[in-house]
Amino acid sequence: MSAIDGLPPLREVIATHELSAKKSLGQNFLLDLNLTAKIARAAGDLGGADVLEIGPGPGGLTRGLLSEGARRVLAVEKDARCLPALDEISATYPGRLEVINADALALDPLAHLTPPIKVVANLPYNVGTELLVRWLTPPAWPPFWDSLTLMFQREVAERIVAAPGSKAYGRLAVLAQWRCEARIAMRLPPEAFTPPPKVASAVVHLTALPAPRYPADPAVLERVVAAAFGQRRKMLRASLKGLAPDIESVLQDAGIAPTDRAEQVPVEGFCTLTRALAP
Ligand code: SAM
Repeated sequence: MSAIDGLPPLREVIATHELSAKKSLGQNFLLDLNLTAKIARAAGDLGGADVLEIGPGPGGLTRGLLSEGARRVLAVEKDARCLPALDEISATYPGRLEVINADALALDPLAHLTPPIKVVANLPYNVGTELLVRWLTPPAWPPFWDSLTLMFQREVAERIVAAPGSKAYGRLAVLAQWRCEARIAMRLPPEAFTPPPKVASAVVHLTALPAPRYPADPAVLERVVAAAFGQRRKMLRASLKGLAPDIESVLQDAGIAPTDRAEQVPVEGFCTLTRALAP
């Protein structure tokens, strides 16, 4: 059966262009175009948006984004072997797909995009986490993107959306939830990928809030959260003692029990504490 876009099935694309998956590039491909269209839909209405896709590989998700109506897609791929397959997609969607052969960690994509911008990616997990932290901690807020729809190892996805009081709650949850609405949009078993990775995955959808939920200096907040969760088993009066000589009274003034542990403090509490330390 031919695909909705008239392009060959992805297994054929991979065979034609000899795209055997490289472990070093974290290549676990999505070959089911119904699934990639579903991930594209999880990013919301794409019609009026430019999409930044990192790591298109043979182009399964790229095809999903274009068939779901993305205004334009900028696809950044490190592996030059994928370019001929991506060129075929560009030819099917004239003027809507630009491909850049680059390391996403070294590229400033902004020159190529017009807001509103949505970021969508199925990336190697280490690169994904590094980019996520970068996208969540820009010099100014709101950021260049309206939403991020990203595939992660399921355990990392759980950490991004975790609520206080849970084991998964930590630095990533506070960073993400301070300035975004974050939720898991989809869970995928290893068999959804070719080759299957060792662990399950999930797609996280983050929407940038126009302003952070609570006022706080971002650099100080990051220091507080890093110190608190760096020693998450300790009481806050111990883990944070390097931040102020009278940390017990600062905590009390912020309405936080000095005997609490980091995972008990909601995002609002970390922001109140940050303001108490750096008024
Ligand atoms: N999006 C495709 C899919 O869903 O089938 C491929 C996903 S595969 C998990 C990750 C892709 O990211 C690979 O194509 C890999 O070559 C690419 N990649 C890995 N590191 C990258 C980097 N630093 N910059 C850009 N692309 C990268």
